[in-house]
Amino acid sequence: MTRVAVVGGGIAGLATALRLRERLPRATITVYEGSGALGGKLRTGELAGSPVERGAENFLVRDPDGGESAAVALARRVGLAGELVHPAPRPAALAVGGRLRPVPGGTLVGVPGDLEKVAAVARPAAELDRDAGRPLLEPGRDVAVGALVRRRLGDEVVDRLVDPMLGGVYAGRADGLSLAATMPGLAAAARVRHTLTGAVRAAMAAAPRPPGTPVFATVAGGVSRLVEAVAAASGADLRLGLPVRELSPAPPEAGPGPRWRLVLGATRAPEVVTADAVVLAVPATPAARLLAGVPGDAAAPVGALEYASVALVALALPAAELPDLSGLLVPAAEGMLIKAATFFTTKWPHTRRPDGVALVRASVGRYGEEQALQRPDEDLVDQALKELSGLVGPLPAPVESFVQRWGGALPQYAPGHLERVAAARAALPGTIALAGAAYDGVGIPACVRSGETAADVIAATLEQWAA
Ligand SMILES: Cc1cc2nc3c(=O)[nH]c(=O)nc-3n(C[C@H](O)[C@H](O)[C@H](O)COP(=O)(O)OP(=O)(O)OC[C@H]3O[C@@H](n4cnc5c(N)ncnc54)[C@H](O)[C@@H]3O)c2cc1C
Repeated sequence: MTRVAVVGGGIAGLATALRLRERLPRATITVYEGSGALGGKLRTGELAGSPVERGAENFLVRDPDGGESAAVALARRVGLAGELVHPAPRPAALAVGGRLRPVPGGTLVGVPGDLEKVAAVARPAAELDRDAGRPLLEPGRDVAVGALVRRRLGDEVVDRLVDPMLGGVYAGRADGLSLAATMPGLAAAARVRHTLTGAVRAAMAAAPRPPGTPVFATVAGGVSRLVEAVAAASGADLRLGLPVRELSPAPPEAGPGPRWRLVLGATRAPEVVTADAVVLAVPATPAARLLAGVPGDAAAPVGALEYASVALVALALPAAELPDLSGLLVPAAEGMLIKAATFFTTKWPHTRRPDGVALVRASVGRYGEEQALQRPDEDLVDQALKELSGLVGPLPAPVESFVQRWGGALPQYAPGHLERVAAARAALPGTIALAGAAYDGVGIPACVRSGETAADVIAATLEQWAA
């Protein structure tokens, strides 16, 4: 009997388990989850009686190549296609000088392809983006997004547009994030094109979005439904509250290739199990700790990854006069605590309430600014409410609120990230695979795809053994 251990029961681990089930129908698949619940950063909670996300809110509908995203495909495979809902077509706003302006269109995560379109919020230094007769980026090179955009279009475009938009995804700063890892389409175009605006236009043309197609989706009732459905469909043995503490080669049993020994559970009463193959679908810090016991040198490049911590402040506001916006972004230069907010009940029509209570979710915390989160929940709620009132007009006191903290939430892909990941994977034996947000993208579709790819790697190795 083939045994595969999946360490980590977030969406990447669960997508791994489901694909393993499809590829290896007779294998025993066990998911070991350290906490008491599956889902990781996918966790639907409740606020004033309505479901509200405590972590990820929605996922991209399409892949960068224009096809259906891995998250939508996953929802379809587990019977949730009919339960997918899309945001109302409401604009988002950007805070500039304490006032809200519409987020300009025609940009790639804030990097403009047409300078006119961003002129209302930032003045690009157009004269810098001259054709110097060679591509912007040499083959194989990577650069921080901020460095490239500052060099070609000046600081204002970075500080007012790119930084808040990238920060909305990574909670990091454009000056620290890898172009190749966070904007692969633009990186590919920059290796061919001679100007940044030309590269943006080429990248956008390479990934056209049919007019009218929604960008995002979620599951009615909350993303935890996706977690539950994938877990059930995987038929895996789901073991909760069991952090895996050690991973090392086991003394050889019959059959080729190494077997693995895992030590799990409480340190005082550890449980030891073995597996033929292991997928590590945990954040980089626990992954690096476990990889220290695996031959090869994958632990160092994995452990080099840093994380940003964030908190979400959710507010249920009675009879609030909110602007007709899906949400807003706040650039770091505005000096506020909040970096973004979603007007949940405006953005998601299926969550609107007959009593008119508006649900708003603000996010707080940027990479390197962890001290901003070191204050009590009540302070975070008060500050978020004050700052939001300053931007959209006076808001009433919430009838209910919660603060959800995520320590070590979002990986910061520094320049060279993709090479470090490739080096780590190349150092691994075929029976150990890596999946999740630490490697191939932080978005839910990327995490799903990385889990499925990890399962394919393991299945291919085990099938080869069996042949
Ligand atoms: C606040 C927030 C909002 C987000 N919003 C969005 C969004 O709207 N759309 C989007 O696409 N993405 C969003 N993301 C990103 C996305 O949710 C995550 O990148 C993704 O869910 C990560 O999935 P994962 O399975 O790789 O990791 P995780 O969700 O971190 O799961 C890893 C699991 O491993 C477990 N674990 C850790 N160590 C061990 C161990 N030693 N043994 C066993 N188990 C262990 C953890 O308990 C956890 O359950 C958001 C992230 C955050 C933090």
